[in-house]
Amino acid sequence: MNIIVTNDDGIQAGGLWALAGELAKIGKVMVVAPDREQSAIGTAVTLRQPLRVQKVAPLVPEVEAYSIDGTPSDSVILSLEKLAKGRVDMVVSGINRGLNLGEDVLISGTVGAAMQAYLRGFPALAISVAYASNQQHLDTAAKLAALLVKNIVADHRLTDIFLNVNLPDIPQADIAGVKTTRLASESHLNSIAEEEEGGQRYYRLVRQQAPKSLNNDTDISAVETGNISITPLYTRRFNKSLLPVLNKLSADLLQELSEG
Ligand code: MN
Repeated sequence: MNIIVTNDDGIQAGGLWALAGELAKIGKVMVVAPDREQSAIGTAVTLRQPLRVQKVAPLVPEVEAYSIDGTPSDSVILSLEKLAKGRVDMVVSGINRGLNLGEDVLISGTVGAAMQAYLRGFPALAISVAYASNQQHLDTAAKLAALLVKNIVADHRLTDIFLNVNLPDIPQADIAGVKTTRLASESHLNSIAEEEEGGQRYYRLVRQQAPKSLNNDTDISAVETGNISITPLYTRRFNKSLLPVLNKLSADLLQELSEG
């Protein structure tokens, strides 16, 4: 089994290597990750400068590792299209330092990297652990990722799959359960701080604790109540329901344009 591992916290991050270490027990792992932290960069790709790939010494034996001077998405695209030799069975992104829940999946570099793989037809998994201290509980997440990968790759019903997994930062014995959830329609990023320095006003987007989710079937609610959350995502973007109204509107647009 060939697995590509990436993240958005950078090639040095402990979560990346905890993940690679567990996955190396069940398959052949190639780590391809940004050379620096790239959190909250979403699915961004680098177009205006060349990308350099550097082979680096792995922190886990028998893992091939490369750092990229680009984004998490760059890493996934390069790994799938240039670096990987032979078939890739799964792409795993994480373990992120901090939760990626609800609408934050749209800005998350961790989820963005997994999405790039999914868009290219590869089974993809993003995994994040809450960030309560410098001593994150990474072991449970890494083992869980390996279990999920093993089961997903073995199950032909799960080829078209893109999972977002989040864990509370608590010891394994304290985890209440594992819940399959829907993505909350709330976000962590919900506040703007105003500051002033040298007579200049500036603003800071503040990442706050998740609001209490109103619905108990969401990813936010699951993690808040001590559960592991597994959310299946997909990337449908076309809004068919607006077509009838927009068709009527568009029909007259050219006429209205020519009338000035
Ligand atoms: Mn991150």
